[in-house]
Amino acid sequence: MICVADDRLYRRAEDLVRFYAALTGQPGRVYADPQGVRDPYSQDGLAQAVRSLEVAEAETRVRSRRLSDWHWARAVEGVPHSGPRPFGWQEDRITLHFEEAKLVRQAITDRVGGKAVRAIAREWCGLGVEGTRGGRPNAQTVTQIMTAPRVGGFRANRGELLLVPETGQPVLGRWEPIVVPNQWHAVCATFSPGSLYLHRVSGTPRLTGRGTAPRHLASGFLRCGAELPDGTACGGALCAQKGRSKRSPYVYSCRSCRRCSISGPLADEILERQLFSVVSGEARLSAAVRHRWRSGELGLEEKREIIASAFTRCLVRPGVKGDHSWDYSRIEPVWRCADRVASA
Ligand SMILES: [Zn+2]
Repeated sequence: MICVADDRLYRRAEDLVRFYAALTGQPGRVYADPQGVRDPYSQDGLAQAVRSLEVAEAETRVRSRRLSDWHWARAVEGVPHSGPRPFGWQEDRITLHFEEAKLVRQAITDRVGGKAVRAIAREWCGLGVEGTRGGRPNAQTVTQIMTAPRVGGFRANRGELLLVPETGQPVLGRWEPIVVPNQWHAVCATFSPGSLYLHRVSGTPRLTGRGTAPRHLASGFLRCGAELPDGTACGGALCAQKGRSKRSPYVYSCRSCRRCSISGPLADEILERQLFSVVSGEARLSAAVRHRWRSGELGLEEKREIIASAFTRCLVRPGVKGDHSWDYSRIEPVWRCADRVASA
């Protein structure tokens, strides 16, 4: 028996067993692939077959995932995307935006030539360039723009370039690319993998440790209490950002309406006060938890778990403009249990 690759003979353990049974049904038969002759009767031959089988099994798993990504990509191709258009393209996401594409092309050439991203971002700011969400370019956004696979014409899904299953070649999008694939690879190679677009899009694991775990006590628990022009409450999540004063080195602000922001240390202190508050003579936290918290024994993650067991969320009332006094009544927690927290 001669085969081009042994994964054509067997991909699963059952296949191998059946193949061996058939092959050795008559003594003296061997089989060969490009690696040489395999002797089904020797220990070595069998061990080699098992190794090939393991490789084949792993390959099958990768292949089926590639296939599902491929089908998924085809499926979404006709669906209009939501969100703002990518920088460099028109609203149709296919035709290039002449000025923006020119900027990106130049930036890639400059970057490959050794220019600092900060310098490119500064240049863009100087030219009055705005992101498609309206933000001012900075080193991070410019990096994302330059290293996005679509710049080189490639499709990606969940942080991986999409490959045609049969050939292993990258799937090309239907849009006009800004640069040729080699240039895209070249610019990506100038960054550490962790800062590349492919590793920063939502749903993909970050390569760098930064940005993965929340660094502040109240992150994720605060909701915007600002009133929108139509009279409804905003309800957006408040995210930690760098603050401008010594007293508030970080602040939590609403990214959706931008009408509500609260000093980080103040918000964290309010949350802590609320947790330690006493309702009709009973403490919300058990004495043991209170003691461990106050003794400094608990890490941020543990503290956050306790908060999560106590509140579902906390509503933040917008502050009064110009009033910098700390108003402890601005945050109102929505408790999980009406009166007490289960001992954490
Ligand atoms: Zn808001």
